[in-house]
Amino acid sequence: MIKTLVHKYLPAMVTLRQSLHQIPELKYEEFKTSTLVSEALKSYGCEVRTGVAKTGIVAMIDSGKPGPTVALRADMDALPIHEETGVVYQSIHPNVMHACGHDGHTATLLLVAQVLQEMKAHFRGKVKLIFQPAEEGGKGSLAMIKDGVLENPKVDAIFGYHNWPGLALGHVGTRVGTILVATGRIEITIQGRVAHTSMPQNAINPVLIGAKYITALETLCQEYSRQGAILNITRFECGEMKSGMTDTVKITGVYYVENETILAQLKADIEHQCQAIIIAGGATFAIDYFAFHTPTINTAAEAKLVLKTAQECLSDAEVIEFAKPQIAAEDFSEYLRLVPGCFFLVGAGENSPPVHTSKFDFPDSIMKNAAIVMCQTALNYLNTKP
Ligand SMILES: [Zn+2]
Ligand SMILES: [Zn+2]
Repeated sequence: MIKTLVHKYLPAMVTLRQSLHQIPELKYEEFKTSTLVSEALKSYGCEVRTGVAKTGIVAMIDSGKPGPTVALRADMDALPIHEETGVVYQSIHPNVMHACGHDGHTATLLLVAQVLQEMKAHFRGKVKLIFQPAEEGGKGSLAMIKDGVLENPKVDAIFGYHNWPGLALGHVGTRVGTILVATGRIEITIQGRVAHTSMPQNAINPVLIGAKYITALETLCQEYSRQGAILNITRFECGEMKSGMTDTVKITGVYYVENETILAQLKADIEHQCQAIIIAGGATFAIDYFAFHTPTINTAAEAKLVLKTAQECLSDAEVIEFAKPQIAAEDFSEYLRLVPGCFFLVGAGENSPPVHTSKFDFPDSIMKNAAIVMCQTALNYLNTKP
């Protein structure tokens, strides 16, 4: 029945996805998008709450029978990129485009809403649909959580997906444990001392100390890459000129790690190296960390449920259990810190341009598999959870 309904509503949803694509909006400015989404949800007969975390929406599908509550999530925001796809439904908002495919995620969840609304007789409990703003650097998931989306009724498990360039079109992949990594920026500031340029022996030159330090840091990068982590030194910045030299240097790097344990270890190693090189060189240092995303960690039962459900709905070749986390991050991680659940990936094709580039466009054809797996996962969860 799910497949039949998905096929029935898919063509109209492709049109709606393309309409969403034309009106991309930046984080917390998703007003037109939000209006379109809430009107669609109301037309399906869902209970709708708008203005959650400013532009977010929460909708309920209540089977009327007692049971658990499963949440399904989509993100709605776009990016400050000028679109160059050349598609007929190209963005009409200059310098804003759906370059991460959130238009597709939103349309998929609307399709799921339409199907599950018609299938109330086939499940117990409730389905909570979360359309969040500001996934792109706006901590939208945290804002939604703060506005109570995981409560009233309390969410027992949550599921969501992202389209995935590089993975075959429509293939579904996930894993138990970390699916997407933690990421953030590290800034190390070295404070030295200036002296007359003719008397370098009286100065503490942060440029020389920084150069030495960066070589050591590169060795650390290589060690961590063997554990699957990435530490990328991206910038070396000298401070203002004072009497012909500078007394500060700032080294910036970006990290991608599988879990908080590795991150803590990385921080400890960086600190240790700073002590060994910077302090030994007579300078002082300060380290600042800017966490962008925590790791997205799937709980075992829910990840297995998605894999099993996908195998049930699709062909074996279309379902992939990843051996390792994917090197990317998502704010879906914040929901998974609080409730069990699973984030899965749906292939956007091996030849798709990467997300966050001006040529990327969400492939409409993958909405079918994404919606089928989402609907069936929700049903399987609701009908088997004790
Ligand atoms: Zn993105
Ligand atoms: Zn995204």
